[in-house]
Amino acid sequence: MNFKGYIKGILLLLLLILVSVPMVGKYKKLRLVDDNSFRGTAIGTNFSIIVSHTPLTNTEFEIWKREITLLVDQLDNSMSNYISDSEVSRLNSSPDIINFQPISEDLHTVVSASLEAYQETDGYFDITVSPLVDLWGFGPVPPDGVVPTDKEIKEILAHIGSNRLILTSQGIKKLDPKININVGAIAKGFLVDKVARFLLDKGCNNFMVEIGGEIVAKGVNKNGVTWRIGVETPDYKTEEAVYGVVELSDRGMATSGDYRRYLKDNGKVYSHIIDPKTGYPAQHSLASVTVIAENSMKADAYATALFVMGMEKGMAWVEKKEGVEAYFINRTADGGFVSKASSGFKIEAMNSSK
Ligand code: AMP
Ligand code: MG
Repeated sequence: MNFKGYIKGILLLLLLILVSVPMVGKYKKLRLVDDNSFRGTAIGTNFSIIVSHTPLTNTEFEIWKREITLLVDQLDNSMSNYISDSEVSRLNSSPDIINFQPISEDLHTVVSASLEAYQETDGYFDITVSPLVDLWGFGPVPPDGVVPTDKEIKEILAHIGSNRLILTSQGIKKLDPKININVGAIAKGFLVDKVARFLLDKGCNNFMVEIGGEIVAKGVNKNGVTWRIGVETPDYKTEEAVYGVVELSDRGMATSGDYRRYLKDNGKVYSHIIDPKTGYPAQHSLASVTVIAENSMKADAYATALFVMGMEKGMAWVEKKEGVEAYFINRTADGGFVSKASSGFKIEAMNSSK
């Protein structure tokens, strides 16, 4: 790639790298930006699809747009905590601990993957943290900016744990009426995989789908080379600065970080990612972790769990886990960053200080 092309590539990456935001709001217009890329917002976050080597006619674009819109709406109506009659909201408000409550195939897939991630990560990934997410002001109710008390946290913590959920082909059963779920840490990844499957079904083998920082790239970009995806500098202030560039093909990638959504009290920053073991937001020098896994859904779940674990524990976990690689960016005392990649994570560093 020549220098101009390189800069153009980087600018494109800047647009693509986005951090996780909550599942909130409704899907807005998906528009065709140029011949082969769509952009819009979905589930409260930015959404982009770039297709290469498959020229689209206007009619095809309209059909794709309609079908993808449907996928997004389905996901929202099933999994949003912000829509009061979504499947998840109905499940959360139900006190039933006797019966299995039937759920859609999509929610079944997501809960099943969540329970698997709960086991795999020794409970660091836990969709039942939902009441704690709400308590800390990261749920559907706007935050009051007040840090919860130890007592409030302890009371809620007693009703957290994915081992209090049973999932079978009949549906889902809660073993504690206070169990609530929030699948915000895995649903975006699931949707990315779903859109990727849609594109593959359409005979498209070269594309990149990105929703709020969770990504799948298949095949090659328009220049015929592997997709190059930016990892954002996890700075509280600077937006969309590229820290490093990753080549991604036929894999899913996700980033979790504390640099866009947090609660600030007395100069202290509390992340929106909660440690299910303590009830407190994950607290350490880790600013972001980027994970590559076989699909975006897994990468999404693992990124959240690794963020809770922190770099040391997280790196040990990744090195033992087959098919998963991670890149950790930590804050240093002087306001800079220091990063560490797992043995199979290849990244081209762009900026290693603040
Ligand atoms: P992500 O941006 O994918 O890391 O997801 C973060 C979101 O997942 C938060 O805003 C919460 O809604 C939820 N969440 C927070 N902590 C956890 C956790 N330990 N396990 C699963 N979901 C979590
Ligand atoms: Mg996640």
